[in-house]
Amino acid sequence: MDIADQNFVKKINQKLLLKEILHHAPISRAKLSERTGLNKSTVSSQVSSLMKEHLVYEIGQGESSGGRRPVLLMFNKRAGYSIGIDVGVDYVNGILTDLEGSILHDQQLKLSSNAPDVTTRRLIELIEQLISQIPSSPYGLVGIGLCIPGLVDTKERIVFTPHSKWKNIDLKTTLQDTFHVPVFIENEANAGAYGEKIFGTAKHYDHLIYASIGTGIGIGIIINHHLYRGTYGFSGEMGHMTIDFNGPTCSCGNRGCWELYASEKALFQSLQTDDQPVSYQDIEQLAKLNDMKTLNALRNFGFYLGVGLTNVLHTFNPQAIILRNKIIESQPTVLSVIQDEVSSRMDDQFSSHVELLPSSLGHNAPALGMTSLVTEAFLHDVTLSQ
Ligand SMILES: [Zn+2]
Repeated sequence: MDIADQNFVKKINQKLLLKEILHHAPISRAKLSERTGLNKSTVSSQVSSLMKEHLVYEIGQGESSGGRRPVLLMFNKRAGYSIGIDVGVDYVNGILTDLEGSILHDQQLKLSSNAPDVTTRRLIELIEQLISQIPSSPYGLVGIGLCIPGLVDTKERIVFTPHSKWKNIDLKTTLQDTFHVPVFIENEANAGAYGEKIFGTAKHYDHLIYASIGTGIGIGIIINHHLYRGTYGFSGEMGHMTIDFNGPTCSCGNRGCWELYASEKALFQSLQTDDQPVSYQDIEQLAKLNDMKTLNALRNFGFYLGVGLTNVLHTFNPQAIILRNKIIESQPTVLSVIQDEVSSRMDDQFSSHVELLPSSLGHNAPALGMTSLVTEAFLHDVTLSQ
């Protein structure tokens, strides 16, 4: 084997060991050798490199199986920090996490304008504030991940956002030029799906669907543990599947799209009277008081979601669907209506094996998905670049 090949093998081994330490720490060198099949001297020299890179450190001593008690290895989650930003239609949620995804700091913004230049300026200020909270560490900020509810192509350019009407915006280059760290841009439902897959109740599932139900409806698709993005990155726009071919015209150009009936926006519109907007608190309070109009609207919301989710289940046959919506997370009756609707429309063979679950991460799911994409890219690059 020539030197280039030997170096490549070393890097692959180092990456494999880091992954084992990440998932199974505290762990001894002997156990690492057993789990990876690498010999003890390779483990020992690669662990030394990882310690020099500040990614791994030693703690006390573990259980002995006879003889000297082994020293245990830990992943250094504070070697660097990651920023995740979820840009909504009228809000921004920013978080700062360590390399294991624990949130150290979070900050929200209300957006009064959707103009790309105004939003970009406010995003830069928000990121600066999050950076000022980073504790001193070997790598500091390792990257920024940002998601938006719209089409993001495979080069991470924002192609189109249906609600704020952004077109062909290269936010990735702007943020990279401003902060000099890797920047990742992703669709919001994809980011949420990834967040739930890594940190949420869905982490044990191989195939899952994440449905983000807000101003519109988008889904994120995880197949065999990986995000499925489609050829150009536009998969999961199921809010625009037709559920009524004679229905009203949608902003996408189609008619009778699912999100015109089943989005949170549709629910709010159905409850509003005389242009008086309805709030989450109003809905919660009126539901508690058994207000008939509110209860009917919530039932319709569940009904329309059940109709569309039946199509989603027939298409993907996932192990679980995670539903991200504040009202579903706080009103269990909506979830039961959805479940009943799905069961009444599908054969038991399909519906009895799938779990319909409210999001366990709530509004942080997309931002957490982004910080974990950032961290994965950092760990990949740092082990392969030594
Ligand atoms: Zn549409």
